[in-house]
Amino acid sequence: MKVRNPRTGEYDYELMEDALEMVEKKATEIRSAQKAWQHLAIGERVAVLQKWLGSFTEFQTEIAEQLAIDTARKRISKVETSGIIGLMQAWIYRAPQLYNPPAERPSASATTVQIGQQWVPYGLVGVISPWNFPLLLALIDTIPALMAGCGVLLKPSEVTPRFMDGLEKSIAAVPELAAVLKLVRGGAETGKAVVNNSDAICFTGSVPTGKKIGAVCAERFIPAFLELGGKDPAIVLADADLEVATDAVLRSCVGATGQACQSLERIYVHESIYDTFVEKITKKAAAVTLTTNPDEGQMGPLIFEKQAEKIQEQIDDAVAKGATILTGGKVENIEGGLWCAPTVLTNVTHDMDVMVEETFGPLIPIMSFSTDDQALEWANDSIFGLSASVFSKDRDKALAIASQIEAGAISINDGSLTNKVYDAEKNSFKESGINGSRMGDAGFLRYFRKKAILIQTAYPETMANFEENPS
Ligand code: NAD
Repeated sequence: MKVRNPRTGEYDYELMEDALEMVEKKATEIRSAQKAWQHLAIGERVAVLQKWLGSFTEFQTEIAEQLAIDTARKRISKVETSGIIGLMQAWIYRAPQLYNPPAERPSASATTVQIGQQWVPYGLVGVISPWNFPLLLALIDTIPALMAGCGVLLKPSEVTPRFMDGLEKSIAAVPELAAVLKLVRGGAETGKAVVNNSDAICFTGSVPTGKKIGAVCAERFIPAFLELGGKDPAIVLADADLEVATDAVLRSCVGATGQACQSLERIYVHESIYDTFVEKITKKAAAVTLTTNPDEGQMGPLIFEKQAEKIQEQIDDAVAKGATILTGGKVENIEGGLWCAPTVLTNVTHDMDVMVEETFGPLIPIMSFSTDDQALEWANDSIFGLSASVFSKDRDKALAIASQIEAGAISINDGSLTNKVYDAEKNSFKESGINGSRMGDAGFLRYFRKKAILIQTAYPETMANFEENPS
């Protein structure tokens, strides 16, 4: 598979796709090592992760450089690699505290029976990840799954695959880890093979792919932890601090060029402050600089050309239906890269794709509302329910609005706080995902099935006193 460089537009890297037999072979190899891995004490698995932390740190610069080519983001690539080091450290600290199957105890319902409880990890977890944060989203579920005693078969996105070379070197340096963590390369077909060879799936990606994977997992009767797309709303109440709100909304809309699942994508502003809000954010958006020189600037090019087409289609659809562009407004080819400056749109409605479909780009469509109920109705008028924001100086009022938004995480007086906070559990609502939280303690505990060992301590019932239960 040919891989495109988002800065130059050139196809300058070749991804050697794994044949389906190779996926099966790796799955079988992991399975043969996983039982021993599962039966290690948690402290022994922690020791292996410590070694990986060391080897990952050794290859950190190489991995960040590979990420920087695939994503055209220098600074964020460094943040991604240091974020993984932080995640490894966090699970090294937290997993042993959480691994605590309860001691044997008498049953309350059958008093002669002792209950023993075992925690049994899924044997092989398949992890399938997207292109927008290639390393972080490949490892965010992988690390706690390994800590729980699972083996992991990992398939990162074919759009941004270069970092796999460096990552594999860091894994190969720790043979105990390499036996239970293997990478496979390829696109949808390889992904399907991962789903068909695993005992549980952690998928991060789009809603359409998530639905397909969920259906196969249902057919195979295995759990699917699905983390999907979003169309996050922000509600800016009449008493919001406008400097704070415009800064936070802009950062959330254009950070990582809007290519984050938890980017704010539709903004509802109270009519009393609407004009000032629009004026301020337009001025700030117009001042955002592009990283056409990789060492300077604030916002990079779009990574995936199909996404760039979708962004342009949303702008065209909005303009055709009456929207006004106040700044930005088109996808441009600059030296082969596809760029879209921060784009503020007004006169938008929910009849336009830009207000209802995921954009995954730096668009800032703004509507004004007259009552809080109207803002809430619009915020909840979505198939998505990933996250949202509320801006107000009145904490209680903001909390009351937050409690009525149908989404799994609400940032108050900020945007996209879920990209900084890893220890708050959250579930996606509606089509943004399903099953146990990847964040917080549940991100580790969800990999165990609870097995009950029931020990009869009195004489077993004999056939002499066996009779049909009168009830
Ligand atoms: P995608 O769904 O196109 O692909 C994701 C992964 O699935 C890729 O590795 C791809 O090769 C694989 N795949 C494709 N078809 C498959 C199939 N039939 N079976 C198995 N695997 C298959 O998504 P994308 O374009 O890479 O990523 C962007 C999407 O990811 C956006 O919708 C974004 O919101 C979402 N996302 C969600 C979160 C979250 O935490 N909720 C985080 C980041 C991105």
